[in-house]
Amino acid sequence: MVYILEYAKSDRSNCNGAKDLCPSRDRTIGKGDIRLGVEVAQFHGVIYRHWTCATPTVIENMKKSAGSVENIVGFDKLREEDQERVRRAWDLGEIPENERPEPYVQKEEDEEEEATAADNNRDNEDHDDDNQQKNGKESKPVKEEHGKENHGR
Ligand SMILES: [Zn+2]
Repeated sequence: MVYILEYAKSDRSNCNGAKDLCPSRDRTIGKGDIRLGVEVAQFHGVIYRHWTCATPTVIENMKKSAGSVENIVGFDKLREEDQERVRRAWDLGEIPENERPEPYVQKEEDEEEEATAADNNRDNEDHDDDNQQKNGKESKPVKEEHGKENHGR
């Protein structure tokens, strides 16, 4: 597979990265964003994703395929500071946490979680019909601990 790094020439390409990483609501890659293209022989085309949507697995595959970061097509045409960013991720094996944009999906989930928590607090004192009928005793409405406390920095 051939990997390509370049600035998106238009805002018409779509990100094929994981949805729960992608900062874009409609998956578009903005013009000028660094995008990672993968040439896929079966499709006779290139599949793009935001560079920041590259998972550790993708970077691992890039390493296997290109060997060194300089061998990635288009790397030498990136601005120097962007080459440094790519190099950091390459060495680290993943996009550094402080460079990952906040995923769009995550934002939605956070809002829902907060709403649910607020409801639970309000209902706690007087009644929780379902639970009382089933259990006859107090049951905690808390289903899961906050497994994903991503305070984006
Ligand atoms: Zn993306």
